[in-house]
Amino acid sequence: MSAQVIDGKLISDTIREEIKADVASLLEKGIRPGLAVVLVGEDPASQVYVRNKAKACEDLGFYSEVHRLSAETTQDELLQLIDKLNGQASIHGILVQLPLPKHLEEKPVIDAISVVKDVDGFHPINVGNLMIGDDSLLPCTPAGCIELLKRTGNSPAGKHAVVIGRSNIVGKPVSLLLLRENATVTICHSRTPNLPEVAREADIVVAAVGVPKMVKRDWVKPGAVVIDVGINRLPDGKLCGDVDYDDVAEVAGWITPVPRGVGPMTITMLMANTLKAAKRTNGIQ
Ligand code: NDP
Repeated sequence: MSAQVIDGKLISDTIREEIKADVASLLEKGIRPGLAVVLVGEDPASQVYVRNKAKACEDLGFYSEVHRLSAETTQDELLQLIDKLNGQASIHGILVQLPLPKHLEEKPVIDAISVVKDVDGFHPINVGNLMIGDDSLLPCTPAGCIELLKRTGNSPAGKHAVVIGRSNIVGKPVSLLLLRENATVTICHSRTPNLPEVAREADIVVAAVGVPKMVKRDWVKPGAVVIDVGINRLPDGKLCGDVDYDDVAEVAGWITPVPRGVGPMTITMLMANTLKAAKRTNGIQ
């Protein structure tokens, strides 16, 4: 058996076309979704992510601002910028690229972003709304995982989903979203005993661990859907996921590759959140 590939790039392109159409109708009303991205320091990976976000804005007709701050920026200076962006009408979404340089604290920065402009979905109020099932801006990577499942006809409803990883940015929110979609959810982490056995029970496996090729074929029930969130750089420079793709593709029913799986969905969901924030601000459903 060879798994069907879940092409995250293709699905992401489809969603971007939908966003473009929505932007066109907003522009007719004189509204242009605006995203501000804040980058502190010169981390090379962060610079690539920020460039990609600015490019996505340009492609989709969004207004965008990139604020590149020096690595010596103080907490107060960063908070002042966020305060200014919170009050700026042309900006509907604010994203502070993480991680921040070591001398800066992330939590006060996340807390300072206006809840309605928190397009990363990390503000405690948005996290709380996700928890209780209220409408909120959802964290991008987890929301992207759910889109991949739904748009390939793999509705989580009634399925047993096993999520490996319990981080605040991926594992926990994707578990809550799967629960909201009526899956039965098991959350695993570094202290979970018999992990392969637990994973083998799953109809849907979501791997968000950060360990290259950890999930092997004997962890996966034949026919299961495997969503690989991991992005790991191997010594030869190539990217790989948390799933041993070639091995697992032999038994899974559906599988996301790395790259071209979950990765492209993250920025696309950021754009979807910015569009949503722009609509909400202007009282449009
Ligand atoms: P974190 O390091 O924050 O969390 C990793 C989680 O995996 C923790 O809950 C940890 O358990 C668990 N874990 C670590 N080792 C093991 C193990 N041997 N067995 C079982 N569980 C283990 O990572 P993130 O959630 O931030 O990211 C996970 C992966 O997803 C990374 O590869 C990252 O690069 C990628 N990523 C991809 C994104 C995308 O756009 N596609 C976006 C964000 C992340 P414990 O809590 O017990 O320590």
